[in-house]
Amino acid sequence: MHRATKIVATIGPASSTQDILLQMIQAGADVVRLNFSHGTADDHRQRAEFVREAARQAGREVGIMADLQGPKIRVGKFENGKTTLIAGNTFILDAECELGNDDRVGLDYKDLPRDLKPGDTLLLNDGLIVLNVSRVIGTEIHTVVKIGGDLSNNKGINRQGGGLTAPALTAKDMEDIRTAMSLGADYVAVSFPKNATDMEMARQLANIAGAPYGIKPKMIAKIERAEAIPALQGILEASDGIMVARGDLAVEVGNAAVPALQKRMIKMARDANKFVITATQMMESMIHAPVPTRAEVSDVANAVLDGTDAVMLSAESAAGKYPVQTIETMAAICVEAEKSEHVELDKDFLDRTFTRIDQSIAMGALFTAYHLGAKAIVALTESGSTALWMSRHWTHVPIFALTPRTGSERAMAIYRNVTSLHLDTSSDRDIALAQALEVVVGKGYAARGDMVVLTVGEPMGQAGGTNTLKIVRVGEPV
Ligand code: PGA
Ligand code: MN
Repeated sequence: MHRATKIVATIGPASSTQDILLQMIQAGADVVRLNFSHGTADDHRQRAEFVREAARQAGREVGIMADLQGPKIRVGKFENGKTTLIAGNTFILDAECELGNDDRVGLDYKDLPRDLKPGDTLLLNDGLIVLNVSRVIGTEIHTVVKIGGDLSNNKGINRQGGGLTAPALTAKDMEDIRTAMSLGADYVAVSFPKNATDMEMARQLANIAGAPYGIKPKMIAKIERAEAIPALQGILEASDGIMVARGDLAVEVGNAAVPALQKRMIKMARDANKFVITATQMMESMIHAPVPTRAEVSDVANAVLDGTDAVMLSAESAAGKYPVQTIETMAAICVEAEKSEHVELDKDFLDRTFTRIDQSIAMGALFTAYHLGAKAIVALTESGSTALWMSRHWTHVPIFALTPRTGSERAMAIYRNVTSLHLDTSSDRDIALAQALEVVVGKGYAARGDMVVLTVGEPMGQAGGTNTLKIVRVGEPV
């Protein structure tokens, strides 16, 4: 069954054997996410090796995403591992406190007291605990508990409305970027960027760290800070893709604002020729149960209808009981949602103006294939940019992107409606086109008599060089 929407699966303790990874890839995982908030460099290296080996066994390329921890602000540790906060009581967050107790706890970001003033609201542990700031005295933030609960070691802190000044890349992130490049990550996800500059800096570091390995990773901005929303256009321009990181975002802007923001972000990303991932709690109940809730089914389907490139699993596949079933279920929901008539080549497509030759060919191919009722679009591509242009508009015609570059093949794994395949292209255009068609027909994606729209660049082998469109009927000479 053809599925256009891609699945990003986070891996962790529940999914770190080669056998489970193989099953996850066979069930539909297109990109695997290594969460650098947990685990050691060696854990990630081992997992990356397992992913590559499992993908080889499955016979297709899978992308690897390194997700940096970023400057998530956290409380310190407690003498007893935790405390219980009671509504109405006072509690102190103290930058100088070593080990917490029932009265106070330390902070990993020592400058936090400088960012706060009386009247601010702090949300701890993903918003389960709410504290109102009453006074800031030196290194101490005095608060009154508004909503209590258990607070354990290293739980996250957000300020409602955002505005904390912690820098985007920590020393740990910089070290983790080096680890990620050494294990061959295809994408780097940056946590909590505030603006385009944060993304430009991260890209520069990743390109330097990736150079010895010949890697220029795709950079993903996780949109999870209130400040990132007004800066979104600039962040998009500085990134290859974004993640609608609903977990932290909901804490900063309020739960209820997230669904509309998701729609806006997906539209803005596609209009800017960038890819977009919808993340967090999509199948949350499947951490413990073999079936999702109706609300989760609708959430995944709605993200598909919004036009997301990929849907993401976090704890469901990293630490849940049913990692493989969750992916299977998610894949089935995507396939069903894609059948909907609500999503077709958008009407404003006709008003688009083009600025580049490869973009013009990509759009021409898409328009032609759509109206001709072609069976497939086959794009010979070096960097994958033609496939990206094409995949920014939704039609039911599947796009097959053939490339000699393994890096491009893995990068395209996240683009909606794009199936990336390997082809060592000939320098002769007609031979290359015939070989490409052979691969697509050989895999059963098109058959004798089907119309296929092909794109290629001449001279061959140059990134961004697509300049030719050809329409063929399978079985007749190319
Ligand atoms: P996280 O990011 O899982 O790394 O926190 C995603 C989110 O905040 O939604
Ligand atoms: Mn987050």
